[in-house]
Amino acid sequence: MGNRKKVSLREAMARIHEAREKLRKEMAAVKRELGREEDELVFVGMADVAQFWWCAERSILSNRRMELGFFGSFKEDVWDYSLRLGYREEEETPSPNRLLELRERIPFEDIQRLLGEMSSPPERKVEDLFWEETVRSLLRGEIQTVPADPETIKRVGKLVEKRAPPSEILPLLEGLPQTLVGRILESYRERYPTIRWNFDWKEYIVVGVPDGITDRFVYEFKTSDSPGFFQKWLWPVAMAQGDLYGHFFRRGEKRVQVLFKKSGETEVWQLGTDRENALDTLKRFRETEKGKKNPAPPREWKCRRCEFRWKCVLGRKVFNARGVQGLQIPL
Ligand code: SF4
Repeated sequence: MGNRKKVSLREAMARIHEAREKLRKEMAAVKRELGREEDELVFVGMADVAQFWWCAERSILSNRRMELGFFGSFKEDVWDYSLRLGYREEEETPSPNRLLELRERIPFEDIQRLLGEMSSPPERKVEDLFWEETVRSLLRGEIQTVPADPETIKRVGKLVEKRAPPSEILPLLEGLPQTLVGRILESYRERYPTIRWNFDWKEYIVVGVPDGITDRFVYEFKTSDSPGFFQKWLWPVAMAQGDLYGHFFRRGEKRVQVLFKKSGETEVWQLGTDRENALDTLKRFRETEKGKKNPAPPREWKCRRCEFRWKCVLGRKVFNARGVQGLQIPL
């Protein structure tokens, strides 16, 4: 492996921590430049805002947890695209001022142009997804191991490669984190070019990357347990996400494809972009995030499977009221 130096896990973690802290300082500086407070939520994600329709509180907590990542995407895209578009020469890491100035120079027409140069994303190896997901959870500050034995991952990789029906793969994925399962199943999505970009909306900078963008529609791939579950619980989230993408990326239609995990079948809906729904979702999210409205408590079962259940005041109330057999609640 040439001159590549091996680093211990401790060393790697220390470097990740250092990089996060540096990025955090840069984000604080950009917020100051924008006239915002350091602890104010500014960078949000379209998919996480759409989660409002699953649980308002979860949508806020998720955006707060991911804010540094959204800022990282914002910085990377402005920096990378401005060079590709010829708005700057090679130069040192940007100051907050420079970053914002370059962003101002990139109109949406440029994003369209860059999208036109993109090809469909290549397929990812299951082994790579597994490691990426492990690193991502470490970057999010979660000490979460991704439990899967390498043989299973290899077997899944082979089945995905030969396009086996999802029903053959799904039983092998039981027990794996849902984010990893979702990414593996993404191999079954339709392939279109896409681009990530950020947009101003009120006090927020809204970052989004649809699973695909054509001249006519934005495309989003989802997985769900069953058609019944999707229609009843996930439909508003998927539609809001498609509408947010359609609104910001200026496409008249949204195409939502869903893979149902129980049957391994897929279904597609292609509908007009509902801009009112996109704006209403943003408005409701903002009112709740700014404390003008209390978040409506979701159904109890949502709290039981929620990753924020130990942090969230509403979630704790559910557990305190009912208790959960067999679970230690670290309050
Ligand atoms: S624990 Fe319940 S109320 Fe809290 S974020 Fe999760 S789903 Fe929402």
